[in-house]
Amino acid sequence: MSDIIISKFGGSSVADAKQISKVKNIVKSDKKRRVIVVSGPGRSHKNEEKVTDHLINIATKGIHFYNQRQEITADDSRQAVIDKFTAIMRDLKIDNKEILASLTKDLDTDLGGDKRVAFLASRGEHYNARIIAAYFDQNGLKAQAQLPENIGFVVSDNYLAAKTLDQAYDNVQCLAEYDGISVVPGFYGVTEDGNIAVFSRGGSDLTGGEIAYALDADTYENWTDVNGVYEADPRIITEARAIPRLTFKEIRLLSSKGFNVFHLDAMLKCRDRKIPINIRNTNAPENPGTLILNERVPEEGVVGIARLDNMSYIHIEKDMLGEEVGFTASLLQIFHDFGINTYHYPTDKDDIAVLVSKDDLLGSINDLRRVIEKRLKPDNMRVVYNLSVITPVGLGLNRNSYPIIEALSALGEAYIPIDLIDQSPSQICFHVGVSQTVADQATRILYDTLIGNA
Ligand code: ASP
Repeated sequence: MSDIIISKFGGSSVADAKQISKVKNIVKSDKKRRVIVVSGPGRSHKNEEKVTDHLINIATKGIHFYNQRQEITADDSRQAVIDKFTAIMRDLKIDNKEILASLTKDLDTDLGGDKRVAFLASRGEHYNARIIAAYFDQNGLKAQAQLPENIGFVVSDNYLAAKTLDQAYDNVQCLAEYDGISVVPGFYGVTEDGNIAVFSRGGSDLTGGEIAYALDADTYENWTDVNGVYEADPRIITEARAIPRLTFKEIRLLSSKGFNVFHLDAMLKCRDRKIPINIRNTNAPENPGTLILNERVPEEGVVGIARLDNMSYIHIEKDMLGEEVGFTASLLQIFHDFGINTYHYPTDKDDIAVLVSKDDLLGSINDLRRVIEKRLKPDNMRVVYNLSVITPVGLGLNRNSYPIIEALSALGEAYIPIDLIDQSPSQICFHVGVSQTVADQATRILYDTLIGNA
């Protein structure tokens, strides 16, 4: 294990000069922070778009925003990118005309196809890293932009969904040897024949994870604009706190819309080397954030509550289906053929239900029902919409059914009808399905019973 901390700063942490100066103070406050990975500039205010989106809009000649029903042309985006970087450099007092000239030249690239989209999409990270390194250096922190194309951060040539190649892990060892602060742009790498390819969206997390893995880092810090992973969705449970320690297994179970704080592949990389991930808040660095670890002592029963809204279930009744070998396989195959992800499938002798996202049924339910009826000849079939699946998670639930009993009694006392109960085979979480109309109330009751007052 090395004593280097890899610190990744997300879009909101590097959105403008004010944020970048906070980053400088954070980096300065711990000598172990020797490699920082930066995103492209995010939004400084709600009405602004991220630089990466503008760049993709330029590359796609305006189609990117058009598809999101936004009237922003490629020319508008080009101006927005230039204005953003000009403002950042002006406010940081960096007088380097070469950087802006090079940006303007890059925006007029004559590359075509996916190579063009990848190259342009990467420019937010590329120029932010160069500017941030210059700013550090100008303010007493020896630093250098370590660009993937210079250090050999080599990736495969699927331009818009690249994967890191093994030789990259050797090549990035140079970062450990540099005696200043390496500022690495996230999200992109260089292909073996010298082109730029990007990871999937949010991929700066992955750059940081790959470098943490290669250098066997002490810790991988992920600086964002939240205090960590919250116990429950703070829009519903306003007093929810950041969870201090979580295992990789628990965060996977908590990962849903409200909990999506981290790129999955980056997490797996760190897990393989037992590197702790620390989610921190650039706007509140005094906060210790959430640590994601391979192991923790499971004294807490439930640490967090995840929730999936807009779920539906398809309930099928057929005499003896439990005895019919292959019935479940045939049913799931139909969902597979329709490209629909299935979440849970509670089953019994003559019944089975399949839980799916309602969005996946849009435009498909009529044909799906027809195919199921034709192939499996059920006695009865009904679709229930607008279900919320609420999932309390915690290592301490393993072999301890008491929290489940408490949770169900509390819901019962409040007369909340339960549509579904399902315990995960890992026994570290259980799922309670309720109608969406009472889901906020049920989340509150489960939080108070299992976490707040526990
Ligand atoms: N800037 C890229 C994106 O918006 C990558 C990242 O920020 O992680 O997806």
